[in-house]
Amino acid sequence: MIAKDEDSILAGRRPEDSVDMALRPTTLNDLIGQQGVKDNLLIQIQASKQRGEALEHVLFHGPPGLGKTTLAHILASEMGVNIKVTSGPAIERAGDLAAILTNLRAGDILFIDEVHRLGKLVEEILYPAMEDYALDIIIGKGPAAKSVRLKLPRFTVVGATTRLALLSAPLRARFGAVYRMDYYDQESLAAIIRRGAKLLKVPFEEDGVQEIARRARGTPRIALRLLRRVRDFADVRAAGTITRSVAEESLGMLSIDPLGLDEMDRRVLLAIIDKYDGGPVGLNTISASVSEEADTIMDVVEPYLLQCGFIDRTAQGRVATQLAYQHFNREYHPSASAQASLFDE
Ligand code: ADP
Repeated sequence: MIAKDEDSILAGRRPEDSVDMALRPTTLNDLIGQQGVKDNLLIQIQASKQRGEALEHVLFHGPPGLGKTTLAHILASEMGVNIKVTSGPAIERAGDLAAILTNLRAGDILFIDEVHRLGKLVEEILYPAMEDYALDIIIGKGPAAKSVRLKLPRFTVVGATTRLALLSAPLRARFGAVYRMDYYDQESLAAIIRRGAKLLKVPFEEDGVQEIARRARGTPRIALRLLRRVRDFADVRAAGTITRSVAEESLGMLSIDPLGLDEMDRRVLLAIIDKYDGGPVGLNTISASVSEEADTIMDVVEPYLLQCGFIDRTAQGRVATQLAYQHFNREYHPSASAQASLFDE
């Protein structure tokens, strides 16, 4: 058999996801925040339904944990179609993708997570599949080889990526709708935590919820993870209710500061400030000095520090801002090169 076992390519559910799955909103109405994306999707869904067509291909991009996978599942249930879930690195060969595509039914959604990590040969199969709903197969070898075109049902690719810039231009061009997912504001996060607490049947006080929301880095996945940790603490050390002091104490024990910065954020910032005189310093240098993969720093750490206004990205590298110095009670005396690179902007 040319293709890999389809089940291993179509990602299965991990056991640790079960609580996450239970907390996952299942309709657009249930989804809190991201109003702009929701409004646009509602129109797209209604228009496709009215015309009796499959949804256009949709791409979601933004930092991890903001609801890209959740939205893909919601799209499938709102459209009343099946969803197959896979990811860029899981589809190793063109044959793997061909096997998935030929098993799709009309209207089905194929969700490809980390779509920027698809191999080049796999991408080339995907282009005609997305554009013309056709699969080009080469039969035979050498001069006698023939290309045969198979027709595919009209289906929808929903792609998710944390790195829009790494998506090849031809692939990006084939998505009819591209949505950027932004960090959530505190009120939306608080609403997500309240909803989670009710589903988990955890008693809470509003102050406690707000404290978790403040430290959740604008990210629902983190908000729900912190909720579970605070619930554990409340059960073991307090009377079970999430109050402000329970939240403060348990999040403090997890080394999550009042702005939501964790150990890694602090190490990255302090490396820039102390070791590199406030910058500018390249990503790979930071990565080496804090022993964390450059990809993680770029996808997870940096976007939030940028959002907080703690670092700036300049042509010469990353620079710590005055706010970052203040956060650590350090006197602001950036290197001459840090100042110069800020003025270059
Ligand atoms: P991504 O695919 O962007 O990494 P997910 O869709 O896997 O993020 O979301 C991470 C978790 O956060 C999920 O468990 C989901 O339940 C929760 N979540 C995400 N967005 C929302 C939202 N708007 N409202 C409620 N829960 C959300």
